Amino acid sequence: MDIKINLTATPKEKPDQNSLGFGKHFTDHMFVMDYAADKGWYNARIEPFGPLTLHPASTVFHYGAEIFEGMKAYRRPDGEVQLFRPEENMKRLNSSAERLSLPQIPVEESLQALKAFVNVEKDWVPSAPGTSLYLRPFLFGNDETLGVHTIHNAKFVIIASPVGAYYKEGLNPVKIMIETRDVRAVRGGTGYAKCGGNYAASMRAGDRAAAEGYSQVLWLDGVERRYIEEVGAMNVMFLINDTVVTPQLTGSVLPGITRKSCIELLNEMGVKVEERLLSVEELSAAIKDGTLKEAWGCGTAAVVSPIGELRMGQARYQIADGGIGALTQKLYDTLTAIQWGQAEDTHNWTCKI
Ligand SMILES: *Cc1c(COP(=O)(O)O)cnc(C)c1O
Repeated sequence: MDIKINLTATPKEKPDQNSLGFGKHFTDHMFVMDYAADKGWYNARIEPFGPLTLHPASTVFHYGAEIFEGMKAYRRPDGEVQLFRPEENMKRLNSSAERLSLPQIPVEESLQALKAFVNVEKDWVPSAPGTSLYLRPFLFGNDETLGVHTIHNAKFVIIASPVGAYYKEGLNPVKIMIETRDVRAVRGGTGYAKCGGNYAASMRAGDRAAAEGYSQVLWLDGVERRYIEEVGAMNVMFLINDTVVTPQLTGSVLPGITRKSCIELLNEMGVKVEERLLSVEELSAAIKDGTLKEAWGCGTAAVVSPIGELRMGQARYQIADGGIGALTQKLYDTLTAIQWGQAEDTHNWTCKI
């Protein structure tokens, strides 16, 4: 694939690495590529960052044909820049595309685009502890008609944002609330796809939880409203006795790359992992009899997010001592050391730019 590169004449000043926040600052360029049914993907280019001009009838505005990925470029102690399991993200992008009938991109080409783009924006990868360059590839339907039919035109774009340390003063336990009214996804729906519509439909529950002082929603399955699926936009794991239990990928759960990496690391640590259905009744029994030792969410943004309190209806339960469990901390330390290149990558998960 041939990528045209048009560099900006007016590079921006880099923001202060100690107050980056999340998704507030954007780099100087973006990758853009167009799709037409009769041409395939064409016009791959890296151009100055700026607004996209779209027809008001564009499919994405009316029928929500949009999917995305979330990943990071990390600054290693030796100054080099690396990605973490990027081919997993690009495979998942295709799985999401397939679900929404959007055009797929050969993984070699989306990886080539990603690496070429990060190479152009290398200086934007921050080096302060815990910081990274967040990468947001997204793909949407762009037919200029209100007719509802298979997508004939699409765009694939990658933007990047330097982001701050998720935890400024060590891991911070979050309070979560079981959502009993709204559901995030159902089997046969789009739960396993990383699509904007899933997020739009989950905002209301998030707002309600926030109004009660909870930072995340614990989602239950959409049919029986009984089995635990995810926490906010993260996968979730529970240490019950000495076994880690995590919801199985039923189709309504997003197959997280952090989840997958945690399972692989836990297996290597000799910790038993069960991917299975976990009901609210089983979880509350484990809280009450003290066998629930630790609980955490996992995803690219926070890596691992310990859960300190769980609200079920009117009842509030503290998990273990409400602090950070030893296994949660160990997973966080192990995974982040690989991602930032501080530990040897024995899995071949990282890829230098
Ligand atoms: C992206 C995402 C995750 C986490 O996936 P990672 O690949 O680990 O970042 C989990 N749940 C939802 C709903 C997501 O969108």
